Amino acid sequence: MKNTLYLLLIACFSLVSCQGNAQKKTKKEQFKVQKTDAEWEKELTAEEYYILRKAGTERPYSSKLNKIKEPGTFVCAACEHPLYKTKYKFDSGTGWPSFDRPIEDGIFYSTDNKLGYTRDEVLCANCGGHLGHVFNDGPTETGKRYCMNGDAMHFIAAKQ
Ligand SMILES: [Zn+2]
Repeated sequence: MKNTLYLLLIACFSLVSCQGNAQKKTKKEQFKVQKTDAEWEKELTAEEYYILRKAGTERPYSSKLNKIKEPGTFVCAACEHPLYKTKYKFDSGTGWPSFDRPIEDGIFYSTDNKLGYTRDEVLCANCGGHLGHVFNDGPTETGKRYCMNGDAMHFIAAKQ
């Protein structure tokens, strides 16, 4: 009897700890690109690092990507993963580059409670870098407003 109880306890314990590990794994290891914080800090500019790796926000109207209207692709500044097309871009009046939809498999959704309420956070699906947030007040048929930090992205013009 004593032994059975002991085994049962062990079984319960390992089940709980496995679940704990599994959760951590899905959250941290699902991105293809894995680098240490020190590696990112070395590779990225100070502004890119602050936004992508520390979930910072750039000053509104500060990004040169706000004005871009020519056809092309917005990619992750850290890993060059394609995120948005110019045709999905619109002027939201917020001072941040805004889009009504991402490229398929471009982004990953998370949540953040930094401001005391839950916002849908948008991460790069390839490296997990923080890009911005998505809101449900978009003006087009998708109803979405992907509010991005320009410094988290690079623009690649389409070949003419
Ligand atoms: Zn990325």
